Amino acid sequence: MDGLVQITEHLASLGVDLTTEAGGPKRATSLLSRRVPLAAPEAQLATLDAVPLAAGDFEAAIAGAGFEGGLLPAKLEFFQINIGKLCNMTCRHCHVDSGPDRLTENMDRATVDACLRALDATDAHTVDITGGAPELNPHFRYLVDACVERGKHVIDRCNLTVLLVPRFRDLPEYLADRGVEVVCSLPHYRQRNTDAQRGDGTYEKSIRALHRLNEVGYGQGDPRRRLTLMSNPAGAFLAANQAELEGEWRRGLQAEHGITFDRLICLNNMPIARYLEWLVEKGQLAAYMERLTNAFNPAAVAGVMCRNTLSISWDGRLYDCDFNQMLDLEVELPGGARPSVHDLDATALQQRRIVTARHCFGCTAGQGSSCGGATA
Ligand code: SF4
Ligand code: SF4
Repeated sequence: MDGLVQITEHLASLGVDLTTEAGGPKRATSLLSRRVPLAAPEAQLATLDAVPLAAGDFEAAIAGAGFEGGLLPAKLEFFQINIGKLCNMTCRHCHVDSGPDRLTENMDRATVDACLRALDATDAHTVDITGGAPELNPHFRYLVDACVERGKHVIDRCNLTVLLVPRFRDLPEYLADRGVEVVCSLPHYRQRNTDAQRGDGTYEKSIRALHRLNEVGYGQGDPRRRLTLMSNPAGAFLAANQAELEGEWRRGLQAEHGITFDRLICLNNMPIARYLEWLVEKGQLAAYMERLTNAFNPAAVAGVMCRNTLSISWDGRLYDCDFNQMLDLEVELPGGARPSVHDLDATALQQRRIVTARHCFGCTAGQGSSCGGATA
């Protein structure tokens, strides 16, 4: 069945209307829906390349950190599957350009099955499911169940507000029963910064969703109910120190809402997609890129996520990371082949050189930044 028809029917069968259930007032504002030039990945790369920077050559920067000849893969540990761009929210900083209007780009069952076959051909121990709001994909639970059956650690990258969509209210129990780690986006433990980035009302919904997760055992030290919060800055600055911030967040969320969590990770905003548009609109792009390059940390290079992760898109193409996926920079094998999930060869993949460009400075600035948080 065609993916668009499939997902539309799925949402209709659940009675979900994303135009009325969005997390905030900023609806249907994906770059794609507005047909702005920056919707094109090549326009984003060109915009970054045009910024005058004294030290803007990423390859030269990592060569100075001992990675002459570029980044090479380490042991593959994480299988990150981006199962679609559909989301109930339209956050200002979104690097995926997700939203309720992204109905077309969602993984179908045949591609999910191809991902599972490919997973079986690797030794990856973790399947990291992301989106969009991955829970909106009709095959989300099928994928989770299949990965759990295989003994994989499963991560659901959850925007929290989706847990309040009426027909998805059993999700916390479903995830808890299967020991799925929930990694939740929450820009800040205070309301103002969260709503500024994700839309009015998001904070209050996020707090309600966190209560639901706590009620089913998440965030209380049980390794099978791991609740990770993920914060990113609300402006054109670098992520705060993860270790220092965690205690403050614990005290703040406990005192104000009685909420507990297991771990806080802090990420830099990646200067692509809607965050890139925001930087351009605010006249902050050059300053932000300078901030990233000035804060280049050689110690953060070895831990960048592309080295131990493989990223798969909704249509089965392969990338070094989710950011490269959004910039359409596919995995490239020696000789130029670009395999898909249908012909993944784990040994051949280890021979590749990771594709990098200026956006990569987002991963190596300050304490480093990856899907698992700080890298240095
Ligand atoms: S940042 Fe996350 S929650 Fe917000 S629009 Fe993008 S995918 Fe959806
Ligand atoms: S953006 Fe991707 S490819 Fe570039 S350093 Fe970060 S993880 Fe690696």
